[in-house]
Formats: sequence, C-alpha cells, structure tokens
Amino acid sequence: SSTESGVHLAVVASLGVGHMKPLAVFSNRIISLRADIHVTFFFHDTDTNDTDDIVSSSSPPHDAIRLVKLPPIDQSTILTDSVGARITITNIRSLPSLRASLLASRPSVLVVDFFATDAFDVARELDIPKYVYFTSNLWALALMLHSPQLDKDIQGEYVAQSEPIRVPGFRSIRAVDLPDPMPDREGEGYQWYLHTCNRLKEADGILVNTFEGLDDSGSVLLSPAPPVFLVGPLIRSASEMSPNRRDECLTWLDSQPAESVLFVSFGSGGTLSREQTTELAFGLEMSGKRFLWVCRPPTRTGDSAEAYFGGLQSDDPLKYLPEGFMERTRRVGLVVPNWVPQVEILGHTAVGVFLSHCGWNSTLESMIAGKPMIAWPLYSEQCMNAVLLSEGIGMAVHGLKGKEGRVVKREEIAELVNVVFEGKVMRDKAKEMSGRAVVAVGEGGTSYKSLLQVFEQWKIGSLNYDKILR
Ligand code: UDP
Repeated sequence: SSTESGVHLAVVASLGVGHMKPLAVFSNRIISLRADIHVTFFFHDTDTNDTDDIVSSSSPPHDAIRLVKLPPIDQSTILTDSVGARITITNIRSLPSLRASLLASRPSVLVVDFFATDAFDVARELDIPKYVYFTSNLWALALMLHSPQLDKDIQGEYVAQSEPIRVPGFRSIRAVDLPDPMPDREGEGYQWYLHTCNRLKEADGILVNTFEGLDDSGSVLLSPAPPVFLVGPLIRSASEMSPNRRDECLTWLDSQPAESVLFVSFGSGGTLSREQTTELAFGLEMSGKRFLWVCRPPTRTGDSAEAYFGGLQSDDPLKYLPEGFMERTRRVGLVVPNWVPQVEILGHTAVGVFLSHCGWNSTLESMIAGKPMIAWPLYSEQCMNAVLLSEGIGMAVHGLKGKEGRVVKREEIAELVNVVFEGKVMRDKAKEMSGRAVVAVGEGGTSYKSLLQVFEQWKIGSLNYDKILR
C-alpha cells in the first residue's frame, strides 16, 4: 500500500505477448530507476504461452515487484474474430477479480495497457490517477485519439474514401494501411476499437513506448488529448537473458559469418496461407542468402493473426514446406517451429536483416539492434509501422503487402531480400536509429527524463493521496 512515502504502481497487462511483455519491461525499468517505488503487476493466465516465464524473464525477481496472475477467462466463450475485441473482452471479464485485488492493496497509481482502460472505473473508485502505457508509436496513438472524430466526420467506409485519412499533425493514412478494425465499420471489432479510443481520452497521462524524433513527420498531438510522455524504447536487453538457457538457434548463428543471416519471424501470432508459405520458402531459397526462419503451420484463412492466442502450436510446420526444401537449404538455412529468443537473435552479429511482420515490439527490437528490415505487415497497426519504417525512417523496404490479399511471389521476395542486404543506406540508418534510441533511454536522454517527470507526478499524487487517507 502507499502508506510509506513511496509510489505504489498497479500495472495491468493485457492478454498477448505483445502487450504483456512491454508492460513487464516497463515495470522492471521503473523499479530499477527509483528506490521509492513498487509495482503490483497484473497479467492474464493462458494455457498456450508460458506466461510465467515471459514475465519473469522480462522482470527479474525483485522485492519491488509483486506478480498477480488474474484467473483464467474461458476463451471459448468469447465469440469474436477480432483480436482487439478478444483482448478487451478478456480484460472486462477479469475486472471483478482485478477490482477486488486493487481495493485490497490500494495502489497510489494505476497504469494499464491500452486495451485495459475499463479498469479506469476502479481507479475512479479508489480516487487515484490513471495512466495508459501505449505499446505502439505516436502516429498510431494519434490515430486512435482522433478516431472518434473521424467516426463523426466521415460517412461510409474509410477504405472507400478517395483521399487518405487525415490525422492532424501526422502523416495521412492510405486505405490499405489502416489498422485492422477500421476497414469494416459495420464489424464488431470496429465498435470495440471505438470504445478503446474513447476511453483512452480519460487517461491522466499516456506513456508511449517510442522516443522523441523517431519519426519527424509528427510529434505533436493536435486533438484534445491527455498529456503524452515518450519513454521508450523500453525493451528487454539481450544481456538479461539467463545464460544457461542458450538456444540452439544462437549456437547455429555462432557459426555463421557476420551480418550474413536473414531472420524471418512474424511475431507471436502471425501466420501465412499455405500458398504464401510455399512462395516464401522458394523465395528464401532463390535469394541465396542464409536464413533463420521461425515457421508456423499455414492457415486456411491466409495471412492473419491466427496463432495470436496460441491456437496452432501443436501442428508440425515443417511438413508443409516444399518437397526437398529442408535438404536443399540445409547448409544455409535453419527452420524452427513457433518460438525463438528474438531479442538475443537480433542482437547476434551474424544476423544482417530482419524480415518482420512489424509488430511494434519487434520493430523496436530491430531498431535497438541496428538491423534493417523487410516489412511484411499482417494485422493490427502493422501496416502503419511498415510505412513509418520505410517512408518515415528509411530503415526498411515495404514491398511485401500481405494485407492486400494477394500472394507475394518468390521472385519478389528474393529480390527484396537482396535489395536490403545490399542497401548500405538502410543499414546505416538502422545503426543510426540504434544509437539514437540508446541515447534517448540512457541517463539524461529525452525518454529517461520523461519517465522521471511522470514519476514526479505520481509522487506528488501519492503524497496527496496519503493526506486524504489521514
Ligand atoms: N517474440 C519472441 N520470439 C518469437 C516471437 C516473438 O521472443 O518467436 C517476442 C518478440 O521479441 C516481441 C514480442 O514477442 O517482443 C512480439 O511482439 P510484437 O509487438 O512484435 O508482435 P505481436 O506478437 O504482438 O504481433
């Protein structure tokens, strides 16, 4: 509780690695920054991912952090195709137990993942400040804050507009790049999306996992918005990984030349169609490059987030690869099913380029490692991230638009792989971004200062709160 002068932060993560991990990293960061803070970290139990392991590898056991696993929510009773809706509904169903725990432990500040803003009601009940930790970039945040207005201003489908969608203060968004729920305004996913956007505005502040100057095209939120703090990139560093858990991928990388390997991964849930998986395999082979490919079984629905909640992990993906592929590429390639230690792989000197679905965590991890990217966005706001990386920053090519529903051909894949391996400008840009990111989060950097600034607010808030209690 907040009876001592310190700050007691309750942090609420959402379902999904891409939401839990960054909030765990943030919690870990804030307790290592200041001694007068402690965190109660709430996260969801799933039977598909080893959540305990993820949380503890992000936040080493520490007196200042208490982990609370929310009781499992039966996912089979949530009937929706929308990833965002599923995450939000899971959070809402967890509210009673979260509320009971918060009322008992009486934190002085609440920080939630952006899908967990319904917990703001409990913060009101406790009369404590409520913040959001936003696990993507400022442009995506600006769009979300502006979406309720767009909903009023624009008639008909967004994707049917003749002009790109305007976001005041930021670059406009082409129809093909709109995040998942927006292309279908009649869909249930869109209604939940609007709900999330509206509740974001209630926050007393929003911490964003990005840094000042990441994208020069936009930095000021023009629509009425809560105060925003750019505190990133906060990602788990490779050195925090326990040394006795060295993965076979890393051993394989040890024997490859510097910057020679293409790392291919679609995040925690990305999947491809069968046809696309075949084209990717041939494309990798045609490129003549070495590769490390995290391969999932294909899905009938095509490129999607079907594995996001862990549904497909039992099937063997290797049996879907073209005949003879494994033998022909044995000397240059390694195919692994499902899951690898990504931060460690990106940090390995043998990795030269990252072919990625551009989830924001993967994006930041590639940036910190200084590795240029091939953008293959699949779902959520990943197309916007791809645009940011290619047109905004210049450390990626964005030739592979999986979202347009077409199959990307092997020749195209092979060519892009070679373009990025030979692209000195992109490589230099990625290294430059790495340097800037490290400076931003380092002592005295802009993100470091922002985080201390929020902390001071929390501290003042806690003092007032103590007074009220007395
Ligand atoms: N990740 C990993 N190993 C894998 C796949 C993913 O460690 O095989 C991690 C990755 O490093 C990142 C997170 O899972 O931190 C995925 O988050 P991201 O935002 O990139 O994508 P999402 O999975 O949410 O779409």
